[in-house]
Amino acid sequence: MSDAPLDLLLLPRWIVPVEPAGVVLEHHALGIRDGRIALIAPREAALREPARQTRELPDTVLIPGLVNAHGHAAMSLFRGFADDLPLMTWLQQHIWPLEARWVSEAFVRDGTALAAAEQVRGGVTSFSDMYFFPEVAAQVAHEQGVRAQVCIPIIDFPVPGAKTRADAIAAGRALREALPGLPRVRLAFGPHAPYTVGADSLQETMALAREWDIRIQMHVHETAHEVEEAVSLHGERPLARLARAGALGPHFQAVHVTQVNDEDMATLAATGTHVLHCPESNLKLASGFCPVERLWQAGVNVAVGTDGAASNNDLDLLGETRTAALLAKAVAGSATALDAHRALRMATLNGARALGLDALTGSLEVGKAADLVGVDLSGLAQQPVYDPVSQLIYATGRECIRHVWVDGRALLADGELTQVDEAALIATVRDWGMRMRLGASGA
Ligand SMILES: [Zn+2]
Repeated sequence: MSDAPLDLLLLPRWIVPVEPAGVVLEHHALGIRDGRIALIAPREAALREPARQTRELPDTVLIPGLVNAHGHAAMSLFRGFADDLPLMTWLQQHIWPLEARWVSEAFVRDGTALAAAEQVRGGVTSFSDMYFFPEVAAQVAHEQGVRAQVCIPIIDFPVPGAKTRADAIAAGRALREALPGLPRVRLAFGPHAPYTVGADSLQETMALAREWDIRIQMHVHETAHEVEEAVSLHGERPLARLARAGALGPHFQAVHVTQVNDEDMATLAATGTHVLHCPESNLKLASGFCPVERLWQAGVNVAVGTDGAASNNDLDLLGETRTAALLAKAVAGSATALDAHRALRMATLNGARALGLDALTGSLEVGKAADLVGVDLSGLAQQPVYDPVSQLIYATGRECIRHVWVDGRALLADGELTQVDEAALIATVRDWGMRMRLGASGA
């Protein structure tokens, strides 16, 4: 019904649609109808359209919702528990024992609620999650109104919620059947990493992913150690092994990819495999550097993710994108690498492409879902504004994010979360922290 009135007409100072690339619209308006973007037009023309509600957003730049392409939401409850350790020590001596002791459905419910709320506050409208009890995470994302790709965790040892691979797949199958009631949730498989998922597990995962027509997300080439160990055990780099197994392709999301030789680069580009870059996790764990600019120039779709809060330690995708933009220049040895507009594209449309959501979200285009973020650039530290995208990427923190909509529904309105009792959530999370601290000192 194109002649129905708009539900909401937004009048921001700037609109950055991301597609077409590099464009900043000034004095334009964006109209929403039935959760979709129905109109992007010059302000004067848009004001002639009937609208139930009109909202002036002075000094605000309207951008597509951010897409956090990789994370482990419930691990937010481990934020700051074990820091400043190398990856394998951190995982084997701290994180895996903690998870074995503490992770339950209640843990995942509260941890995911914390992560989702932090992300909405930070302008994230779609996030990917790879963790235990994925059916609980899916429900929490649904309740908060945010979009999520929920990965069914596959790993070759017993984990909370799944003693065996068959258990994990059965839970995934049940979640798949519940998806019609969870319209913003997408399912994927999350085989943890080449060193924790054997050939049989990988083959079964690949077969099911094909049958269910869903994507696969996996940590790949996170560290030099991972690659060296694989070469000495199997005589092959993990990416080469995955390619030979037929695992790679446009449905495959490779997380981290800090170790890349020319052959890896050619394989990623030829197969259309997506790379999910998590710069702050890689920096904190001293894992290495993803060559973002070289991958981008080779035609690989590179998205950005925060990884879990236990290795970052925040889920601030805007901050992550600034880190990515700065790091890309250092790694490429070129100040022209990953400019501000491309950095924003990486955090929005590239993320949506990686998750298979680009027909729906990732850019501001008529017909797409109204997944939007309004960032207030009126503050001292943002002045003067020559290019709002430059200010956004290089000079603005997530505290300037004032409005977030998903499917046209306001999840953050004038800086307030609408779907979450923030004080109650903080109290619940503090209680978890207290219990885990006591548990650690009593152990
Ligand atoms: Zn991860």
